[in-house]
Amino acid sequence: MNDQPFILNKKKIELGQNENIQLHVARLPSGTVINLRIHVFRSKKPGPTLLIMGGVHGDEINGVETVRRMVDDKIFHNLKKGSVIAIPLLNVYGFINFSRDASDGKDVNRSFPGSTKGSLASRVAAALTRNVLPLVDIGIDFHTGGNARYNFPQIRFSNKHPKSLELAKAFASPYIVAKPAIDKSLRKVMISQKKPHLVFEGGESLRYDGFSISNGIAGTQRVMKHLGMIKRAPTKKRKVILFEKSSWVRADRSGLFRWTQQSGAKVSKGEPLGVINDPYGDSKNIVLAHQDGFIIGHNNAPVVSAGDALFHIGYRSQIL
Ligand SMILES: [Zn+2]
Repeated sequence: MNDQPFILNKKKIELGQNENIQLHVARLPSGTVINLRIHVFRSKKPGPTLLIMGGVHGDEINGVETVRRMVDDKIFHNLKKGSVIAIPLLNVYGFINFSRDASDGKDVNRSFPGSTKGSLASRVAAALTRNVLPLVDIGIDFHTGGNARYNFPQIRFSNKHPKSLELAKAFASPYIVAKPAIDKSLRKVMISQKKPHLVFEGGESLRYDGFSISNGIAGTQRVMKHLGMIKRAPTKKRKVILFEKSSWVRADRSGLFRWTQQSGAKVSKGEPLGVINDPYGDSKNIVLAHQDGFIIGHNNAPVVSAGDALFHIGYRSQIL
């Protein structure tokens, strides 16, 4: 299969060819055509096909920028073997509306494998599932935290899929978090097809985070080197910690929130992590760590309601 021509939008892409493809998805109510922009890079030598994608959630710009920068930096040119399919932005609708979801209010990453007769989000998912996924052996997609939540650069992988763990270790992001795949997500569809898939989480929606972008790019290069697709990749700069479990510390009251500890910190049970004040100076609650672990994500919203997720703590860890 890997030495066969790729057919995308009736265009034939042979080994040794690079192409930019536009795939029709749908139209805006104004009649404006929405196309999926796909970069294809193929070595002369057959090998694995890697899908590198951002913007499944339209407001997670950091992931879009990470993939865009990899294309711009030409790291997929001159592959030693195999192919890369790079899609910087899947959910064009969410992107132009500064929204996680498609313009029908549905989450593309809860709409896989999708249907060409389904909701808009389902049609976006179907465009990928039908046209691109049959060509792909391994996937990496780039996300950020949502709703003002920041994620420390981390790979999420399925514990039930050893090849995904192998590639997560090769990626060597600061954190690796075992998480079961969510129903109707891209990762679930990939795993059901017995294909490894890594979800990279880093930074926060609607913002750039240079630390996450550089971790995302370096990790992708390490995976490609591990697969024999490129010669050189940056060495990892810090130890990699794998978490078997994670859970959220939630707000026990509503008010104005300030963190005093943030993502990346090692914390102990009972340690103060932040404070929630009422807006009038009358009272405050200290937010405490509910167990020993590391903060893998935190909330940057200044105003929170009782029950809001404040700190994502990873635990049951091992240093790799
Ligand atoms: Zn996301």
